[in-house]
Amino acid sequence: MTAVFAISIEPRATIPVVGSDQVFPVRRIYCIGRNYAAHAREMGGDPNREPPFFFQKASDTVQNCPANGTVQHPYPTMTANYHHEVEMVVALKSGGRDIAEKDALSHVFGYAVGLDMTRRDLQDEAKTLKRPWEVGKSADHSAPVGPLYPVSSVGHPAKGSISVSVNGEPRQSSDLSDMIWSVPEQIAILSRYFELKAGDIIFTGTPEGVGKVQRGETMRAVIDGLGEISLHIV
Ligand code: MN
Repeated sequence: MTAVFAISIEPRATIPVVGSDQVFPVRRIYCIGRNYAAHAREMGGDPNREPPFFFQKASDTVQNCPANGTVQHPYPTMTANYHHEVEMVVALKSGGRDIAEKDALSHVFGYAVGLDMTRRDLQDEAKTLKRPWEVGKSADHSAPVGPLYPVSSVGHPAKGSISVSVNGEPRQSSDLSDMIWSVPEQIAILSRYFELKAGDIIFTGTPEGVGKVQRGETMRAVIDGLGEISLHIV
């Protein structure tokens, strides 16, 4: 017998799938830190291949962004230094523990362009005080994601430009091939820490040039082959 909820809650987050009426249900949101050398340097870290590290955002922080048009993105509370981090998002159709690197891509459903929006002042304070990162990284609506492109249509993008502009001015511009840890490596290593499951999405790290945005500005994030998303901050 199916249990009946004692209260009503919002349904889980989903991401539209390009070329289909279907949506992808989101289970967990994992993010990798410092996965582009020049960004590692700008954050005061070591750009060498030190082991990758991961954090999570709450799965209901997903903000859906259409392939065309601009969505309104609410500026979060409790920050005066809200930053964009453009990232490729990987969506898993299956998972497991201790996934081998050579098998990792077989678990991928598709890819999208996303933003790991960050209350940088709160993240910096957490670093200084050796506290958890949630308040910096998991603000409401802090995971804008564009429509998912299935592997059947785009393959596994490993190179191509990734960029974000603010009010038309270039801010971050790099190439997916500049990732320190590849997507298969990220999936393999992450699966040693957590059992990955269908519905998990991974934000694969951001290149250099992260910076502040304000109310009234418009961010446009683009990845070659994965379209673009546009957000007006209100
Ligand atoms: Mn990030």
